[in-house]
Amino acid sequence: MATQRREDLLLGGPGLEEIRLAGALDETLRRLFGRSLRLRQVSAGGCSACEADTNVLGTIGWDLGRFGIQFVASPRHADGLLITGPVTQNMELALRKTWDAVPSPKIVLAVGACAIAGGPFVGHPEVNDGAASVVPVDLYIPGCPPHPLTILDGLLRMLDRLEEHRLPAKP
Ligand code: SF4
Repeated sequence: MATQRREDLLLGGPGLEEIRLAGALDETLRRLFGRSLRLRQVSAGGCSACEADTNVLGTIGWDLGRFGIQFVASPRHADGLLITGPVTQNMELALRKTWDAVPSPKIVLAVGACAIAGGPFVGHPEVNDGAASVVPVDLYIPGCPPHPLTILDGLLRMLDRLEEHRLPAKP
């Protein structure tokens, strides 16, 4: 369900066959991040449900680490940011500083309706209506909150590893 352009999340215009799901990162970035991707999570407001469903991916049932994807404590050790929340005014500077601290090249994922466009807080003067108004976003993962499978699907699509990890068909 994830896409690389926010407008591709809109339903109602094109038919299903025209919906553009997220594609893989370009060759250079895939070479850099394809086997090991480290993300710093930034909670930029919101209700915390997006963080909860992201955290689930680290539990034994999902074991995100087996895909080579890990969350790290320092942005200086990260390849990119996973942002949740609409980016409240009091989180804007912190988000900018965290983004600045990630070494280039870096990627940014906006997870959940709030981070995509403000979600239920859209238009409120205390929020920025999503991460893209503060930092450049490479992947939009929809939901309120997104199901952990939706987040995982977006990450693996972006890394071009969806086929590699396809679950075996039931007998
Ligand atoms: S997108 Fe929905 S679930 Fe996620 S932080 Fe915003 S209100 Fe909460």
